[in-house]
Amino acid sequence: MFEKVISFVREYYEEPNNFIPLHEPRFVGNERAYVLDTIESTFVSSVGKYVDRFEEMIKEYTGAKYAIATTNGTTALHMSLLVAGVKRDDLVITQSLTFIATCNAISYVGANPIFVDVDLDSLGLSSFHLQEFLKTKTIMRNGECFHKESGKRISACVPMHTFGHPVKIDEIVKLCEQYKIALIEDAAESLGSKYKGKECGTFGLLGTYSFNGNKTITSGGGGMIVTNDEKIGKLVKHLTTQAKVPHPWHFVHDHIGYNYRLPNINAALACAQMEQLDRFILEKRKLAAAYRGLLQDTSIRFVEEPEASQSNYWLNAILLQNLPERDAFLEFSNARNVMSRPAWTLMHKLSMFADCHKGSDLVNSEFIADRLVNLPSSVKINNN
Ligand SMILES: *Cc1c(COP(=O)(O)O)cnc(C)c1O
Repeated sequence: MFEKVISFVREYYEEPNNFIPLHEPRFVGNERAYVLDTIESTFVSSVGKYVDRFEEMIKEYTGAKYAIATTNGTTALHMSLLVAGVKRDDLVITQSLTFIATCNAISYVGANPIFVDVDLDSLGLSSFHLQEFLKTKTIMRNGECFHKESGKRISACVPMHTFGHPVKIDEIVKLCEQYKIALIEDAAESLGSKYKGKECGTFGLLGTYSFNGNKTITSGGGGMIVTNDEKIGKLVKHLTTQAKVPHPWHFVHDHIGYNYRLPNINAALACAQMEQLDRFILEKRKLAAAYRGLLQDTSIRFVEEPEASQSNYWLNAILLQNLPERDAFLEFSNARNVMSRPAWTLMHKLSMFADCHKGSDLVNSEFIADRLVNLPSSVKINNN
């Protein structure tokens, strides 16, 4: 069975011998032309037409009213938590099965993550466990939500759409409204994924994307914050650009600001990649369908997009039967130069977050972490 997967991957990428990475970028559109244009115009830094164009493209693509480009997905998360009003010593609800950036950003504002389990189908924050947690372990005081056990304020919730698969975000929206908790979607992996026809990242007060080199599309490094709230949209733009009060020559700043604006040279790359996003997702969904076909009626479970959603299938994932079988698969494929890797080490298992509160048991998170393997998922480039 393992052999069948490896030979499928080699055939798919028409790569009989060489190393096959997990995810590599594709620059087959206007990337060279746009990047060269920034060099020739000298506008390579944080001012330039491509930054504005990139933001317009994201607004148009996602339907969000405001889009602000940032240096990366981690700074996008940091800024979102700041403007959502998360304060030192607050708790922020998130999942343990996520990339470290989610929890790092929570730490940057002096808050602590509190972990709630994920669903087995979406691999993302479970609305069921979230509801149980909020119902039994929190108390409302003066219109704010507090964690009974620690007495700490719960000011935000950050679900993550794992590998592009949407969580049951409409349920989470309702719960966050009911408990007066700011909802920030970590949509770093899910640009172009939809839940009930609506773009991931556009359900919460704020949503963040990443354009790191391994994501569905890349700007080298980059991120984006989207929101429909005018006040927040304008504040994000202001704070990510050193909080400088506009003036032709005077330097006056009215806040502690951040140098989080995406450079034009990166935005140029992003604009060219955005032009190809739909085509890339189409190819990624074709690959997912092929993996699904290959693995049906076997003991390996292919992780499919959850009900009512459309996934961008950023990284394809399979679930092996148990930890030894997972490790055997990782050994087998990597020894054959076909890259595969396990899920991230769960956040509550890392020393920095080991003492964080848990809002539920983390049985599903542990089940997935023991069994999951990501398979090569780069976009296949056809010459036709
Ligand atoms: C990639 C990623 C980020 C951060 O993105 P960078 O652009 O690398 O800072 C945040 N959260 C998740 C879940 C990610 O996968």
